[in-house]
Amino acid sequence: MSDSKSLSSHLWDFSDLYRNAVLQLEEAATTMRLDPNIAERLKVPKRALIVSVPIRLDDGTIKVFEGYRVQHNMTLGPGKGGIRFHPEVNLSEVAGLAMLMTFKCSLVGLPLGGAKGGIRVDPSQLSRQEAQALTRRYTSEINMIIGPDKDIPAPDVGTDGQHMAWMMDTFSQEKGFAVPGVVTGKPIEIGGSLGRAESTGRGVVYTIQHAAKHLAAIGKPAVKLDGSTTVSVHGFGKVGAVAALEIYHLGAKVVAVSDVSGGIYNKNGLNIPDVLKHVSRNKVLAGYPEAETISNEDLLALPVDVLIPAAIDGVITEKNVSRVKAKIIAEGANGPITTDALKVLEERGAFIIPDVLCNAGGVIVSYFEWVQGMQNFFWSENEVNAKLAEVMENAFRKVIEIQQSYRCGMKTAALIAGVDRLNRAMLLRGLFP
Ligand code: NAD
Repeated sequence: MSDSKSLSSHLWDFSDLYRNAVLQLEEAATTMRLDPNIAERLKVPKRALIVSVPIRLDDGTIKVFEGYRVQHNMTLGPGKGGIRFHPEVNLSEVAGLAMLMTFKCSLVGLPLGGAKGGIRVDPSQLSRQEAQALTRRYTSEINMIIGPDKDIPAPDVGTDGQHMAWMMDTFSQEKGFAVPGVVTGKPIEIGGSLGRAESTGRGVVYTIQHAAKHLAAIGKPAVKLDGSTTVSVHGFGKVGAVAALEIYHLGAKVVAVSDVSGGIYNKNGLNIPDVLKHVSRNKVLAGYPEAETISNEDLLALPVDVLIPAAIDGVITEKNVSRVKAKIIAEGANGPITTDALKVLEERGAFIIPDVLCNAGGVIVSYFEWVQGMQNFFWSENEVNAKLAEVMENAFRKVIEIQQSYRCGMKTAALIAGVDRLNRAMLLRGLFP
């Protein structure tokens, strides 16, 4: 990172997430003895677009927000990655997330590349009308680089199916006909897939089940995922809430969950369907009556069997890692564990399910949505879930095989799995011109 004028050094300076993604790539590249020319190309995104997004607020004033779309690598197919609305989003973070998407899509065998987008905004401060105006203007500003064959956005932190519907409508208005394939994570009525909304959280729990079986097979203390197993979930949004519900239905005891308003804790286990009802009425966890309150920091330190960080990146760091005691840590969020903290956790024998594997369920079912949309032939939810389970199981097995053959950590193994397929594809396609 010596050239202070380069895009990579600019990105390197501005987010831990990008730095951690590059460090993890370097570790994987060294372990697998990756062609250094390929490693060099993978450290920087292919294309990064910054746009100004002016909208008229409800009070009549005009405010200009900053938006981004980054396409990291499109060797395997069109770009794929979510749109994040968050007050701290920046180009570097979006680039790091796009890089993770490249490795994730490659690892699970999808014909898609890695991309990501975002707007620097606090979505809780927007009215519905303002959110719609912001989403539509942003879509219009990035429309020259997105499309069903170019780059296909999806929901991420702070966005959902409604935002995707507005994006699809805006893109379609500009084309003159309906283009449902421009985004995934759409509502069912306009071409969404059954099971997409639950897919990431569901996939997180599939990987925890595989991890539990794997640990038993290699003679580690059993994590049975029944009433003897305790779980805490950091981040109770689209990913965390579904993961909590799925693991609760398996019979495990979810003792704590949290969101931006703080956490709730009940040592006998929370009734997750009841907690969900509270959140749908009150928007946040705060005020849930059948539990004690707990801070987000203390939740991460609970002596549970399974911890699911499913909120944002950089929550387990060098500073708090010594307090984290969970046996299995399932990275529902992208980049929740920093590179330094990861080393400490691996040294003390925690089993990490890396983000690119753990939360891949979302992009897998996004791919199914795209395929169903192109064929105009839609599958039952059981079919979607069965196909999701099969892809996740194969990916989990592949990562374990690599981890055992290189004797490396799970994170490095998952990146090697992703980079290996990509490397072969990049070498076959060669370098233009
Ligand atoms: P979301 O906006 O639906 O939920 C985020 C949750 O985290 C909310 O409960 C929010 O209150 C909480 N949160 C935010 N900041 C927090 C903080 N500082 N401390 C504690 N809690 C906080 O977002 P999501 O879609 O569930 O995404 C969560 C993570 O999962 C992100 O890292 C995202 O990139 C990743 N992810 C999402 C998907 C998907 O399909 N939605 C797919 C793959 C990965």
